[in-house]
Amino acid sequence: MSTVSVEIELDLPDGVTIRGYERHEGSHVFEVDFDLPERCLCTKCGHEVESNLRYRNDVLAIRDLDLQGQPSFWVYQPPLHQCPKCRQRTQIPAPFKRPRVTYTHRFEQFVLESLVGSSVEDVARRLSVSAEMVEDILAHQLAAEHEIPATAQISSLGMDELSLKKRHKLYVTVMSDLTDPEHPRVLAVATGRDRAAAEACLSKLTPEQRSGVRSHRTDMSAVYPHICAEWLPNSQTVIDRFHVAKKLGEIVDRVRKKHANLS
Ligand SMILES: [Zn+2]
Repeated sequence: MSTVSVEIELDLPDGVTIRGYERHEGSHVFEVDFDLPERCLCTKCGHEVESNLRYRNDVLAIRDLDLQGQPSFWVYQPPLHQCPKCRQRTQIPAPFKRPRVTYTHRFEQFVLESLVGSSVEDVARRLSVSAEMVEDILAHQLAAEHEIPATAQISSLGMDELSLKKRHKLYVTVMSDLTDPEHPRVLAVATGRDRAAAEACLSKLTPEQRSGVRSHRTDMSAVYPHICAEWLPNSQTVIDRFHVAKKLGEIVDRVRKKHANLS
């Protein structure tokens, strides 16, 4: 067997460096390092001094974006600061992820984008992660209460319902910006799939932004098209590939389950 070497360009967040690379069972594993703060605050006694670094013995594997259709992971030994006064060890947070989660900020964003016009199960399957992880990402977005910048120009809007049944057992309404259909952006998430939920999302847009919307694409549910027509005076409803694809996905799932039961 002959081998070739391939050069790949990677985008990395500021302050992150790659130390090593390995292929591992159909995934890419990068050993990463990140810039550490010069001073640290002890979480126990509040003493602030120059960082006194230690490394935990275990290695964390953090999911990052797919690379050439295969998942990539960042691995690192979590750095700690040991307080010279009380000996307490404080973990130094990694700049590329939220505390306590096992995926990067940009993976989280990618999951949210992928959810537009899809379902939790589909996204989980496509990215080879658990449905629970996808739900947690969406639930975090629900709690985060992001403001939509008043200057954002949105010409096409999406409204989807998503069912979170694994861990959260609720329905949410997701409003997204489909102005650039290749990169849908989640604008707002609200609990429920009723009028109140849809209006909670739409009310986050300014009246000017709502009149600027030219088209909207919604789940084929009874309530969204109706409410969008009320709130978006200059917009026309569009049947689009997202929601047709979603319906098809549901049918394929049903067929697959039926076959699984027969065999
Ligand atoms: Zn201390």
